[in-house]
Amino acid sequence: MPGMLYLCATPIGNLGDMTPRVVETLESVDLIAAEDTRNSIKLLNHFGIRTSMTSYHEYNKVEKADYLVGQMQQGKNVALISDAGTPAISDPGEVLVQKCQEAGIIVTSLPGPAACITALTLSGLSSRRFCFEGFLPSDKKEKAQILAELREESRTILIYEAPHHLLRTLGELYETMGERRITLCRELTKKFETVLPTTIGEALSRYEREKPRGEYVLVVEGKSLRQKEEERQVSWQSMTIGAHMAFYTEGGMDEKAAMKQVAKDRGVAKREIYAAIHGTGIH
Ligand code: SAM
Repeated sequence: MPGMLYLCATPIGNLGDMTPRVVETLESVDLIAAEDTRNSIKLLNHFGIRTSMTSYHEYNKVEKADYLVGQMQQGKNVALISDAGTPAISDPGEVLVQKCQEAGIIVTSLPGPAACITALTLSGLSSRRFCFEGFLPSDKKEKAQILAELREESRTILIYEAPHHLLRTLGELYETMGERRITLCRELTKKFETVLPTTIGEALSRYEREKPRGEYVLVVEGKSLRQKEEERQVSWQSMTIGAHMAFYTEGGMDEKAAMKQVAKDRGVAKREIYAAIHGTGIH
């Protein structure tokens, strides 16, 4: 019988958030794969867990995942823990999960803390529709592309950030999105937990004066549909009626339908569009 993989969520700061099921599982598996064994040993010691540990991190994830799959194929049960929170959320866990699926190994998840969900619930921003971005990429071109996509995003956006990059990221968000509501969630579940509902511009001026400390989740308000509509109106107004018509006709609309749509976009009567194109009114 092959073993199984258990994804075990661990506290993001407060040890009281460790679930009894995770403690039992970590005690009973054959091996624990941990992102940072030096960090996780403190957690295991606190709960008196003596199971052996092996490192599984960004720089060994591919070979180590193969090794761990081999162990499970030989009948060993393996638990995966990340540095903090839920494995496979902004950590290398997904590679191991994929390889287990390919090898037919059963994977189960023991839910618990995740910084993104904790922050979302505290943000005061819409939690009905949200998207998780994790860390923004360090590659400049890729980052610019993602920021441009996020500028148009209408769902609430969750971003992870380390303190030494916070100011730069706030600056980049301000440059791309302009002024928006944002909630900065810092040191969640810890003694100095802080939730700061503010705007991107205000957060930027605050952290230009004050050194950021601790780990942050940035919860950014999505672009409202009203804002999108206003921008669309402005962009139509900057086009000639001919270019506006061509936009639709080249997209496959017939002239009549395009005229109707152009009139709607510009908030004018259809006859005005007809007159602009044909130099006369509709009869
Ligand atoms: N797997 C984790 C989870 O489930 O949230 C995330 C790991 S990711 C490598 C680390 C990032 O999560 C930090 O840089 C920070 O953005 C966020 N984070 C983790 N713990 C946090 C906390 N207590 N308060 C605020 N943000 C936290």
